Amino acid sequence: MSEIKPKIKKPRGVARLLDGKCIACGARCQSACPVNCIEMTETGEPIIETAKCIGCLKCVKICPAVALEMYFTPEELQILAELAASAAPVEEELDPEAAALARKLAEYRGVWVFVEQTEGEPARVSWELLGVGAGLAKTLGVELCALVIGEKVEHLCHEAFAYGATKAYLMDAPVYYHYRTEAYVEACCHLIDTYKPEVILMGATGMGRDLAGAIATRVGTGLTADCTGLSIDDKRNLMQTRPAFGGNIMATIMCDKYRPQMSTVRPNVMPMTERRDGAVGTIIRDPFTVAEESVLTKVIEIIRDGHGKSAVDITGAEFIVSGGRGMMGPENFAMLKELADELGGVVGASRSAVDAGWMPGDRQVGQTGKTVRPKIYIACGISGAIQHLVGMQDSDMVIAINRDSSAPIFEVATYGIVGDLFQIVPAITAKIREMKQHN
Ligand SMILES: Cc1cc2nc3c(=O)[nH]c(=O)nc-3n(C[C@H](O)[C@H](O)[C@H](O)COP(=O)(O)OP(=O)(O)OC[C@H]3O[C@@H](n4cnc5c(N)ncnc54)[C@H](O)[C@@H]3O)c2cc1C
Ligand code: SF4
Ligand code: SF4
Repeated sequence: MSEIKPKIKKPRGVARLLDGKCIACGARCQSACPVNCIEMTETGEPIIETAKCIGCLKCVKICPAVALEMYFTPEELQILAELAASAAPVEEELDPEAAALARKLAEYRGVWVFVEQTEGEPARVSWELLGVGAGLAKTLGVELCALVIGEKVEHLCHEAFAYGATKAYLMDAPVYYHYRTEAYVEACCHLIDTYKPEVILMGATGMGRDLAGAIATRVGTGLTADCTGLSIDDKRNLMQTRPAFGGNIMATIMCDKYRPQMSTVRPNVMPMTERRDGAVGTIIRDPFTVAEESVLTKVIEIIRDGHGKSAVDITGAEFIVSGGRGMMGPENFAMLKELADELGGVVGASRSAVDAGWMPGDRQVGQTGKTVRPKIYIACGISGAIQHLVGMQDSDMVIAINRDSSAPIFEVATYGIVGDLFQIVPAITAKIREMKQHN
């Protein structure tokens, strides 16, 4: 019979500040401490109340200056030395807060994509999101699910299967026919409470932005808007990358203590998923509805953009000829229109051109404008500021025309033409016309 060795508790120690090492980084250690045992001095250095410290190591790990260490009494050091030398089983004291958090997070599983629709017509961004969602679901080892809300919208579940979902949560009732924040928030929160998804993705459209913010507030979780990149870290956290500080840096944001993790992504930022006809999945019908009387908003009529003569949807265009400040005036955009017409495309603009009143706001490409992903993007007299690049750099082909050879636009260009656009653009248009005539 083998002897059962008693378990020895491993000492955890307490945190201590190393002399002269703190760089007063802004109290990161204090914000990391789960038991509030760190106070900051006027000069921004921590004072640790060791009697309260539970030795969780969080402050030590977060300190950018390696200014904190764990302190062990001589007796504790002796126990640690004995433990290292013996094969006795060690009882790791679990940080109760961390254990409770891990249990809570483990209740949430699955990647959901909200399928946006208006009068039964799906928004293309939903299918783009199913593409990126499939990668996340695969890494997490969970199902990719579609969230379909509306009236007579079961066909969208089958569409979602064709774009990669394996399950669809369907809420089909007259009260959901038109998008109204109150009704959709109630419906989504009910589904989240019932099925507990780990990740929810929505289009950064008018509807998606409105709904995502309201849901995140209601369920008490984080939301990252306008993500340009999504991935999973080794702790199942969603790494949400988006431009920050006016687009000058890319920030990666995590929501590591709350679930679900919610992100919105603009149309055209993620590549379109390939459609697989005949794909099947499971539909979970949830009968939950909201009483019509409780919804204060009434939709009288939907007036769609694009019905006006001048309205152009640059996000769906395959060819875009964009002009910037280098166009020198509104009258010169006629030259870009001629080229765009030859290509069967549309005219876009930089913010400078829009701010100058040369083009309407709906033509603006970039961080505060539209994100586009055409087959060919021709940038004429646009310098290539980061705020412009984030809106067009994923185009299949970028042709840049600029007289300044060091303009940043050339860094993302497939083909760069250094020269005067007033000579180059008409020459390209004339060449295309000539080629068309010969064909
Ligand atoms: C928070 C924030 C959000 C922003 N959002 C956006 C956005 O959504 N979209 C956006 O575009 N910008 C945005 N901006 C503005 C952005 O920073 C730039 O100021 C803007 O993109 C510059 O526009 P531009 O390239 O047309 O003008 P400029 O930077 O002035 O560039 C003009 C270019 O034209 C070239 N040029 C001049 N004449 C000729 C010629 N005859 N032939 C060839 N080339 C010529 C010049 O060499 C130059 O490179 C934002 C800025 C901030 C702070
Ligand atoms: S080790 Fe943990 S409990 Fe102790 S001071 Fe640092 S963060 Fe707070
Ligand atoms: S995290 Fe480190 S550098 Fe920052 S205040 Fe605390 S001890 Fe100082």
